[in-house]
Amino acid sequence: MAEQVRDVAIVGGGPAGLSAGLYLCRSNVDTVLFEQELTGGQALYSPLIENYPGFPEGIVGAELTERMKTQAERFGLETRTFAMVEGIKDGGDAKTLLLENGQALARAVIIATGRHPRKMGIPGEDQYTGHGISYCATCDAPLFRDKVVMVIGGGDAAVEEALHLVRFASKVILVHRRDELRASGCLKERALAEPKLEFVWSSALAEVKGDKTVQSAVVVHNDTDERTEIPVSGVFIYVGNIPNSSFVADLVELDDAGYIKTEETMATSVPGIFAAGDVRANQFKQVIISAAEGALTASSAQRHLEKIGARKAYGGGAV
Ligand code: NAP
Repeated sequence: MAEQVRDVAIVGGGPAGLSAGLYLCRSNVDTVLFEQELTGGQALYSPLIENYPGFPEGIVGAELTERMKTQAERFGLETRTFAMVEGIKDGGDAKTLLLENGQALARAVIIATGRHPRKMGIPGEDQYTGHGISYCATCDAPLFRDKVVMVIGGGDAAVEEALHLVRFASKVILVHRRDELRASGCLKERALAEPKLEFVWSSALAEVKGDKTVQSAVVVHNDTDERTEIPVSGVFIYVGNIPNSSFVADLVELDDAGYIKTEETMATSVPGIFAAGDVRANQFKQVIISAAEGALTASSAQRHLEKIGARKAYGGGAV
């Protein structure tokens, strides 16, 4: 029996993928979304999203993304969770998605796979990940109630998560390689005014030590090379991200950092394959940008379907 060819397959169930799914399904485009874990993407782990319009008090990341999923499914989006896409083969008007168990066919593909936290590659990192080292304060902060923890990094993520950790820990020590934070104004001001947050400037984390769990972290001053061993129970690492694009590295054009290059329409170098959200080469990584790019890819994917004769022209404008 011939395999069913879906109109659009979305890879990745964060804000970009869910928003693409909403727009496509609301236009009656047959769409399936593959997500390797649970839907929500990195936003799922955000303790409080304060800059997504419509939520004046802020909204917990998990709630916002669950609402996005419910909204898309209301219009018929089929979401397949714990379904890993390992590669994509371009067959012209039908693309093949290579799954762990089997394959799926689609006329257009939207890649919205996001990014994952960068590791530091220091001694102790692998050994203590899950035993005191974490990349997600939202998930693990309650485990460090009344304990001293360290946060590495000076960007929005590090500062946001440090401000979450102060609600649980007795003290949070933020170690940054420069002498000022990269984080945006409002977060920076709040962090500098937070009495439970201490700063170690111009320093790098060199090693994490412990027995069964983390007991201390060694930091080195950039100018003096002085090494200081600081007793801590936990280390939270936020030193940037790596795009989840390796599964299509041989297919679509990437930039030097591995992000997928697109045109304004979100079209990649392969006709019929689009990219949206954090995996795309764009300067501004925000939930609202990902959601907007998802909507744009939906429009572009629909135009592609019309072009290959798989769908009647709808007359332009918004999907
Ligand atoms: P980021 O902005 O790239 O910041 C990474 C931080 O880690 C920087 O402070 C960087 O130092 C430091 N760093 C990088 N490599 C390091 C190393 N090897 N050792 C020590 N420190 C290192 O990453 P992010 O904070 O994950 O944010 C990523 C994107 O998501 C940004 O666009 C951000 O605006 C966005 N975001 C937004 C929000 C929000 O709006 N609420 C929340 C989270 C993330 P330097 O400063 O010296 O480069």
